[in-house]
Amino acid sequence: MKKPYEKPVITKVETGLMNKFGNAPYYARKVRTAIDGVSIDALVQQFGSPLFVLSERQLRENYRKLYRAFAARYPNVQFGWSYKTNYLQAVCAVLHQEGAFAEVVSLMEYEKARRLGIPGEKIIFNGPYKPVEILEQAAAEGALINIDHFDEIADLEAVAKKLGKQIRVGIRVNMDTGIYPQWSRFGFNLETGQVMDAVKRIQAGGHLVLTGLHCHIGTFIMEPDAYAQETAKLVQLKYSIEEHFGYQIEFLDIGGGLPSRNRLKGTYLPPEILLPSVEEYAEKITQALYDHLKPGDFPTLVLENGRAIVDEAGYLITTVVASKRLPDGRKAYIADAGVNLLFTAFWYKFTVEMDRDLPGVNESCVIYGPLCMNIDVLDEGTSLPPLERGTRLIFSPVGAYNQTQWMQFIEYRPSVVMVMEDGTVEVIREQEDLSDIERRERLPEKLQLNSIAAE
Ligand SMILES: *Cc1c(COP(=O)(O)O)cnc(C)c1O
Repeated sequence: MKKPYEKPVITKVETGLMNKFGNAPYYARKVRTAIDGVSIDALVQQFGSPLFVLSERQLRENYRKLYRAFAARYPNVQFGWSYKTNYLQAVCAVLHQEGAFAEVVSLMEYEKARRLGIPGEKIIFNGPYKPVEILEQAAAEGALINIDHFDEIADLEAVAKKLGKQIRVGIRVNMDTGIYPQWSRFGFNLETGQVMDAVKRIQAGGHLVLTGLHCHIGTFIMEPDAYAQETAKLVQLKYSIEEHFGYQIEFLDIGGGLPSRNRLKGTYLPPEILLPSVEEYAEKITQALYDHLKPGDFPTLVLENGRAIVDEAGYLITTVVASKRLPDGRKAYIADAGVNLLFTAFWYKFTVEMDRDLPGVNESCVIYGPLCMNIDVLDEGTSLPPLERGTRLIFSPVGAYNQTQWMQFIEYRPSVVMVMEDGTVEVIREQEDLSDIERRERLPEKLQLNSIAAE
């Protein structure tokens, strides 16, 4: 059989990264003295260590690059910013300025988006648990609610009756796109016919109007073809629903999950070589649209990418506080930041850079954090020269899922600053102190030390 024609995609290949001899392990140094022109030293002097640094320039650049890849190929594109990936106000504000809607998955995130000034119509509300009180507010404010399960259909019908109006909704779909294990816990399954049962159920109720389809196939998806399959299936589903139920499907939301330029543990090639470019994803997805959409039909293509936009904009500056030799002979360092701050260290091997060039031959070493926990390992096996105490190590990319999943555990959480495009540095989250930790605590009067002493 003749192979189908595939359009070529031109990808810039970065050279000098690695050759057949590997990475020149003995003397290669990764030194970083500044982030976006602001020196590491000045940042630590002013804001302390550890310190999260976000780059406004990188954030906007990543957003625009991804948005352009899609908008250049398809006329009707809307991005939603995945709040759970990083919901610091300043990060969300930058992305809203760029034109993103808010994509939220809980009551807290919905309230966060509203407080930031995002109107209901610009909020996409996903997630498996939406308490009725917030469903009611979201419906009244015209949010785009994507229904996750049958019980939520019933909840929303009750809300519609109470508000005395029909509610426009989307439904979340899960399907086989060749990515395993399949994310089948969210939404209604396509292949078993559950989706059609949900549509029947919605139509029978008469209180909800189906206007959109949503699907989020997973995260760090390295296979553009999976999105092509997803998109094709959603378009076919759209026409099948329109034909049999008379609804008009206005948006196809293909979720997020595009990889960031991070290195998953266990992968050998650097991400620049291993990962497809955003153009390849955009090409496959829009091609699937054109292959399956009827001529002249351009439903809104919604994307909800998180990590692909924010990860590379984030750095963590840490300080080496001590070194030791482990009984197995390995060199080990203790840094002032650990998995309490870098939750994603469990999955990624970050780039580790030093703030100074140091003499000596590299050796493989382990970098521990400050926690009194064996699992507190930031890196096992990075090649570094002998580090002096006080050396700063800069970990990247760390902008995704760390400032939302970090733990207040044993240590205070440090400041987060943003290096602005104009070269100034703004604190976007202050470092914590004891008052933050104890603000919600109540000590019963009879347990207070001075009352015990008085007895
Ligand atoms: C988490 C999530 C996203 C963002 O995922 P990334 O992998 O960070 O791009 C998008 N949509 C939904 C529904 C999500 O739960």
